[in-house]
Amino acid sequence: MAGIYIHIPFCRQKCYYCDFYKTVNTSLQSDFISALKIEAKVRKNYLNEETIETIYFGGGTPSVLSAKEIDEILAVLNAEFNVDSDAEITFEANPDDLSNDYLIAIKQVGINRLSIGIQAFQNRHLKKMNRRHNATQAVEAIEIAAKTGFSNLSADLIYGLPDLTPKEWEESLNQLFNLPVKHLSAYHLTYHEGTAFYTWLKKGTLKELKEAESVDQFNTLVDLSLANGFEHYEISNLAKDQLYSRHNTAYWMGDKYLGLGPSAHSFDGVSRRWNDSSVEAYIKAQANNQPYFEEEKLSENDRYNEYILTRIRTKWGVSQKDLKQRFGNEKERYFSSQLAKYKDTGVLLINNNTITLTRKGLFVSDEIMADLIII
Ligand code: SF4
Repeated sequence: MAGIYIHIPFCRQKCYYCDFYKTVNTSLQSDFISALKIEAKVRKNYLNEETIETIYFGGGTPSVLSAKEIDEILAVLNAEFNVDSDAEITFEANPDDLSNDYLIAIKQVGINRLSIGIQAFQNRHLKKMNRRHNATQAVEAIEIAAKTGFSNLSADLIYGLPDLTPKEWEESLNQLFNLPVKHLSAYHLTYHEGTAFYTWLKKGTLKELKEAESVDQFNTLVDLSLANGFEHYEISNLAKDQLYSRHNTAYWMGDKYLGLGPSAHSFDGVSRRWNDSSVEAYIKAQANNQPYFEEEKLSENDRYNEYILTRIRTKWGVSQKDLKQRFGNEKERYFSSQLAKYKDTGVLLINNNTITLTRKGLFVSDEIMADLIII
């Protein structure tokens, strides 16, 4: 079982908080699609003919692509890889791209899960972030998507925004729960170096929310989500009716994946590869059949650390039995001894030899993870 991630590096405009690799030069789109097809063909053996159970179009803004372009990409993937007929095919989209016609067209070419970048339901915050859409468009996009037959709908929200009041955050969550959304990814704002938000924070023209306010917003997120039938299955992800993101869950479970496109990461079980971040250089490299990635072989300690860091974030947690089977007695003993520090602290739940974080533990997860890994 494996997945394919496709990085679509185009955005119509740049959001002020975002540090993903992207360009607003959409004139390169057609050359990029050609390069992507070459890369998919060249790397067709990367996953060793494993069945592809998930495909994820991320970005950037995949919804800058036409349905025809998406169809062409999927046709190459279907021809070169063993794509399961029931594969989850997720597509990240901006609300203002989601017209009725577009939604019908992308559904027809095979997209069966949408992840819509809502971020907030207040126009003042959307403007401050330089999002292209407004709150009305956000609501409409979700409603039209559901009417078009997308039953597996996910939305992204950001909390911890400068100035975001508790009332506004509750409003955003309640608005979302009134819509036919089955999955929510909610991220706390991070001030990434190089972004406009980071510059303004350093200049003092933008004020970071106090930690206690962020903690309150996280608690509101979890409480309201649970009250509305969502399950908190990963630190930043909540799902209804067990409609977890299969693609992201596979990352957390350590499954293999192939990443296509500039800045995309790949993992084949023993090493990681990441493509460089320049669409121009990517197009040139594919056309000339030149390598365009860096690679790191993972040591056993690296693999143990990744296993702990990803699993502990999820509701499935770390199974000591599985840990022992994968990494042997010594690593399992190390894990158990580190775990002992947290006895009776209320931050970890141990059930059937499986360790998960409690709500209290989620707030100190960085500290716990640093203790459990091997440095
Ligand atoms: S948040 Fe999304 S739409 Fe905005 S700049 Fe980043 S990738 Fe583009």
